Amino acid sequence: MSIPTSFIDQLLDQTDIVDVVGRRIPLNKKGSNFWCQCPFHDDSNPSLAVNQDKQFFYCFVCQESGNAIHFIRRYENLEFVDAIETLASAAGMTVPYENNRLEKSKPSGLVEKAVKFYQGNLNEKTASKAVEYLKDRKITGATAKKFNIGYAQDKWDGLLNHFGSDIPSKELDESGLFSRKDDRFYDRFRGRVIFPIRNIKGDFIAMGGRIIDEGEPKYLNSPETSFFNKSNELFGLYEVKEREKNIASLIVVEGYMDVIGLYEHGIKNAVATLGTAVTPNHVSKIMRYTNKIFFAFDGDLAGGKAAWKAVENTFPIIREDINIHFVFFDQGHDPDSYINEHGLKAFQKLLDESISLSSYFLSKVKEFNLETLEGRAQAAAFAIPIVNKINNSVIKEVYANEISKLCGMDIKTMDASSRPEIRKAESDNAMRSSSNTPVRVKAVINIFSALLAFPAIANESVFDELKDDPKFNFLFVILDLYKEMPDIKPSRVIESLESEQIKGYFSEAVVAGLELSEKNALKLVNDCMDILLKNQKDREQSLKDKYNVRSITPAERRDLQQIILKKEEITDDDRDWLKKLSSKQD
Ligand SMILES: [Zn+2]
Repeated sequence: MSIPTSFIDQLLDQTDIVDVVGRRIPLNKKGSNFWCQCPFHDDSNPSLAVNQDKQFFYCFVCQESGNAIHFIRRYENLEFVDAIETLASAAGMTVPYENNRLEKSKPSGLVEKAVKFYQGNLNEKTASKAVEYLKDRKITGATAKKFNIGYAQDKWDGLLNHFGSDIPSKELDESGLFSRKDDRFYDRFRGRVIFPIRNIKGDFIAMGGRIIDEGEPKYLNSPETSFFNKSNELFGLYEVKEREKNIASLIVVEGYMDVIGLYEHGIKNAVATLGTAVTPNHVSKIMRYTNKIFFAFDGDLAGGKAAWKAVENTFPIIREDINIHFVFFDQGHDPDSYINEHGLKAFQKLLDESISLSSYFLSKVKEFNLETLEGRAQAAAFAIPIVNKINNSVIKEVYANEISKLCGMDIKTMDASSRPEIRKAESDNAMRSSSNTPVRVKAVINIFSALLAFPAIANESVFDELKDDPKFNFLFVILDLYKEMPDIKPSRVIESLESEQIKGYFSEAVVAGLELSEKNALKLVNDCMDILLKNQKDREQSLKDKYNVRSITPAERRDLQQIILKKEEITDDDRDWLKKLSSKQD
């Protein structure tokens, strides 16, 4: 599947980057930009500028830059498609996927056929044990139908024979429905109740199977395939979304039997992870559809661990408008068994009495002996790395204050760690200054500013003088883009650039947002071109001096040759120089 570019353009048109960033990090308007602390490096000042006109952000320290899609991708650590889904959902738009036969992530049609086959099996006499199991779990026919529950007979080739011999091995292999030994395929799911798994669009993409008789493993899922990624999918999410357009809240549970058991009792907004802990991808996906989340994990050690994992994976992307709560069950209970034993009202009471993310986190900190200095130090050592994961500066500050109070120390003095991002930013800056003089850099940025204000300047002949200098290829890439598409968005221009350094300069120009009249813009370009060209002349002289005094490097030799060769008029003196430079020795 792919997403048409026209949709991406439309999405960017209907999305305001100020809104996208502002919902995650508080922004302050100053001059023509909004500013915040940059989430992509360890920032202490507001270094990230968000420009509403250009729909663009840029960090003056780490130089991260881009449009709303890029921001979401980096901030929530998402794949491109997931970032589009997140923005589309916020804008109330549905992503139109194009079926592209070459694309390998298209769900295999075999999975849907298998779902129908297994569902049909449930009506057969051979399924009596499966039916008994479902009755035992108090699952009615209507619910079984709603979730497309089926039965895989205890045979090695039930599904294989149903498919017949026409299907290519490759397709059987890629469906995830079969195991393979040597060259023979056999049914992966045997003697199991089948719970089909759908993606958010409703396509069947995988199965979960619960064994009926004795046997291992008790639960078996499809393996990961090109269209099924466990750490990305949530069982039941499609079903909730199908029924409720605006989802008030979601309950995250550990197993599909919990989702189905709760559904049976009237709790129809539960979703389950598929045999994995809650991943950042899960959290980001859930936050896309609701702003109230309950994590309801089993009342055992594993459930406790799962809850903690959810805390860790939620902190980086937590927002002020998201409400997260935790529900805990008595030892030995899970959501399904609890509602079966105590009923709907008791379960709803548990939801009402659930504890908030912050209370849960602080309760963990309070488990240390805060009466003693050692205990407080341990508590701080435990809490600081977790609080540091929070990207939202306001929420981070609130947590930091709370931890400081509990541990009796100012934890802000302790979090100035040497994170790798800082080093990266510093080295980027070093690279910046070593290869170009500040004047030259400023000239390039000013030319960009003028172009951003008046794209028609791209057609001016003043740039031609740099045309033969390969160092300025980037400028002509940009000029060509503006000549072809005067309305091009800055983020598209940046996508077309190869050099990170030039991307940074262009981004700086975008957020600088210089207010220029057309006349001044042209003058600015001419002045800047003079600086760049004068720089060329200076360079010619300094290389010649260097040649005369001592030897020059092969790269410098080529550079000097280029400078002379691209002159409009070549003098006798130039010819002498070319001769000297092309002779092998010295
Ligand atoms: Zn930054």
